[in-house]
Amino acid sequence: MILSKSQFVRGVKCPKSLWLLKNSDVPRDVPDEGQQARFETGHLVGRLARDLFPGGREIPFNPDDFEGMIRQTRAWIDSGVDTLYEATAQANGGFAMADILRREGGGWALYEVKAATGLKDYHLYDAAFQFKVFRDFGVDVRRVFIVHIDRSYVRHGDLALRKLFTVEDVTAQVLAMREEIASRHRGLAAMLEGEMPDRDIGPHCSRFYDCDYASWCWRHIPERSVFGLYRLPGSKKFSLYDRGVLKIGELPGDFNPNFIQSLQIAAEETGRPVVRRGAIRAFLTGLRFPLNFFDFETFMEPVPRFDGQRPYQQMPFQYSLHILHADGRLEHREFLADETRDPRPPLIARMLSDLTPEGSIIAYNKGFEIGRIRELATFEPARARELLGLVDRFADLIVPFRGGGFYHPGFNGSFSLKSVLPALFPDDPELSYQALAIRDGGMAMTAYATLHLEEDPAERAKIRADLLSYCRLDTLAMVKIYKFLNGL
Ligand code: SF4
Repeated sequence: MILSKSQFVRGVKCPKSLWLLKNSDVPRDVPDEGQQARFETGHLVGRLARDLFPGGREIPFNPDDFEGMIRQTRAWIDSGVDTLYEATAQANGGFAMADILRREGGGWALYEVKAATGLKDYHLYDAAFQFKVFRDFGVDVRRVFIVHIDRSYVRHGDLALRKLFTVEDVTAQVLAMREEIASRHRGLAAMLEGEMPDRDIGPHCSRFYDCDYASWCWRHIPERSVFGLYRLPGSKKFSLYDRGVLKIGELPGDFNPNFIQSLQIAAEETGRPVVRRGAIRAFLTGLRFPLNFFDFETFMEPVPRFDGQRPYQQMPFQYSLHILHADGRLEHREFLADETRDPRPPLIARMLSDLTPEGSIIAYNKGFEIGRIRELATFEPARARELLGLVDRFADLIVPFRGGGFYHPGFNGSFSLKSVLPALFPDDPELSYQALAIRDGGMAMTAYATLHLEEDPAERAKIRADLLSYCRLDTLAMVKIYKFLNGL
């Protein structure tokens, strides 16, 4: 049976996952929008990196004719082509495509491009497997490189590819893995001829990436289980699981919970929330009217488009602001940048005029908003004083929850807005994210990052309206949470 490099890496992660892929009809989990966006980002970065070695010839991808791709690769190598993109090889039960294959120093060098910002262990498995396949195919590969993004690059003017990308020589690591790769390849091939391996769930399910058979393999885990215990390290979760403990109500006597976990266990036992009014009151009395409920949306991209932007920098492009006055009046203000320009200058100007000059600024997980505001201050020094002056006014609405003021069994060990809202307001149609086209921050990020590529003005306008609806809901939700806590 032929293994591609991604199948080989899957087998290294978990042989059962590879067996299910090759030998079963068990459906795989569908990639969510974020994973889909990461695949697309990978392709985009791969194409861009070719310009590091211009003038090469691309083997056209044809999923119905891999044989043809392999023949074409062989023909171009034999005819003296120096640089190939997507060179394709198959030998000894292995199949691989190389992002860039280049004649160098009397032999060949193989470049594998990654959209990541550093070297990961699965990159080495990936590269070492490719090295083996191309060598077995008869290509004299002597050096192997991983090309990845350098996060410290800051764009100024034209894109500087040699600064955007880091080219890391991994030849020594790949050579050291030759025996391991050959033996794993033989082992996986033999495993695929037999019955499904008896492999239980474990930390390997999220090694390298989240396994797409998780829904199937994890189906015996109840919705509220020890895996939802607040901030319990993964190793401890699996050690409970290995002792046969699945439910929070079954925790053994020697389990030593932290403070929030003890509230979680109590709420689970009674099926009712735990309320500690003192902690809630301490938070509420620190707030000053008018209350500015504030939330940023950000996007990030591997290849910076604007001056002063770094790869994968969190770029604020939108905010929503609900202002609650002492007399009960509620105002809404919002901003969504023009997707074709750097969003930061207009956002700074509008934000500084929209926020009230006094009163608390309330965010949910304020560290994120404060972090972006500090970056904006560095970006625009002329407004730095005003921007940094906002920082001390921030209050964090997660504090009453994280501080143990209120725990609901429905939180399932998480205080994210997406966990808290359905538990507190199960029947509030105004707070239903499911009714929205954009339902979470990841979707908002992807929608905005690709919006400038959308050519249909009507579709652009719709996406912009969807973004506004989503962000508005986040701050409206905060207002409702505040009122709920106040009501306690
Ligand atoms: S979910 Fe875990 S145990 Fe199941 S196939 Fe994937 S990695 Fe293996």
